[in-house]
Amino acid sequence: MILEATKAGADAAMEKEFNPWLAAEARFNEAATLLGLDDGLRKVLKTPAMEVTVHIPVQLDDGRLEVFTGYRVQHSIARGPAKGGIRFAPDVTLDEVRALSSWMTWKCAVVNIPFGGGKGGVICDPSVLSQGELERITRRYTADLMDIIGPERDVPAPDMNTNEQTMAWIMDTYSMHKRTTVTAVVTGKPLNLGGSRGRVEATGRGCLFVTLQALRKFHMEPTETKVVVQGFGNVGGKAAILMHKAGMKIISVIEWDGALYNPNGIDPIALQKHRQETGSILEFPGAEEVDKHEAMFLECDVLVPAAKENVIHSKNAAKLNAKIVCEGANGPTTAEADKILEEKGIFVIPDILANAGGVTVSYFEWVQDRMGYFWNEQLVNGRLEEIMVNSFKDVVEYGERHKVHNRAAAYMLALDRVAFAIKLRGIYA
Ligand code: GLU
Repeated sequence: MILEATKAGADAAMEKEFNPWLAAEARFNEAATLLGLDDGLRKVLKTPAMEVTVHIPVQLDDGRLEVFTGYRVQHSIARGPAKGGIRFAPDVTLDEVRALSSWMTWKCAVVNIPFGGGKGGVICDPSVLSQGELERITRRYTADLMDIIGPERDVPAPDMNTNEQTMAWIMDTYSMHKRTTVTAVVTGKPLNLGGSRGRVEATGRGCLFVTLQALRKFHMEPTETKVVVQGFGNVGGKAAILMHKAGMKIISVIEWDGALYNPNGIDPIALQKHRQETGSILEFPGAEEVDKHEAMFLECDVLVPAAKENVIHSKNAAKLNAKIVCEGANGPTTAEADKILEEKGIFVIPDILANAGGVTVSYFEWVQDRMGYFWNEQLVNGRLEEIMVNSFKDVVEYGERHKVHNRAAAYMLALDRVAFAIKLRGIYA
């Protein structure tokens, strides 16, 4: 009995630790307290400005009618239009979308681009839906949000299980309603529909730029750097390839179906080809297969958690064996684990900085769409590098000046910038 009660208590504690909104709140509270923000401003900064729930009727391929639930949360529009992705997943919750939308506010503020924060989600399982069904869900979701999205209001983008095609459907649906093509309503579009060069690799490239800055800070040579990457998708896969090209050794790649290890380095370009051909990273000739639950704890210089939320938590953070953690995913570390990583002296490049390359190039895409003039890839990557390097320096210097760890510094910097905008604008009554 006692054992069961203890287990139930432990489960409840983990559930609380994994709740994204509570995690966002914990980081917010820490930064707000350190900044000495007054209660009123705290409430304004913390509370999402708008939350919309839509129930979308969609006809399935077999003729049945199904109703899907979707959300769009605009956490803040203080510094500009809301900005942030849309995810499709069976376990999407309003709390999760809320948390992610607030992270977008802080992320845009950390890299100082003129956007607020937003996020959307639709509860659905893309793995069992046809392209036609996904298209109908996307179009109806967009139609239902017509009044709240737009280039000057709220600009969606891809996120988990959404991609360039999803963005093309959103752009088309919005444009059909407006009777004119409005490319700037979403970012992450295909290149020939108003997309930006460099957008697909932008998040991974941003991870590379901040990691290079961290290596430089600790006088570490990229060619002597061992990297473990968790997630080999749009963020982790691209980061691994770019880090490999920069001379780093990718000693382990972890995916949902297994993990690979090679102390002499895995060639991620060959691995990507292998995965395209076989559908899995497994049975790759250039590495041995290891336990996917243990690979994250391999001794390395840089760990890039680029898969999903809550992978580093209170029960496993002590086992990490990395000098630097570059958070490619949103929310890979729980608030409880922050303290453990700090005690271990691990240099964390927090998500709202590390993965901000994606939204930064989204900003460039939005600018290019509005200009009607498109930049070459060199210009995009150069401007991305400038923003990522400056933001890294801003955060690290802020942390050193205020004697706080990087995540607290990033949040403090962001909260301060958003609070400043709110104060300047004043409260409309
Ligand atoms: N979904 C991405 C993120 O979490 C990109 C958002 C955007 O480009 O607006 O940062």
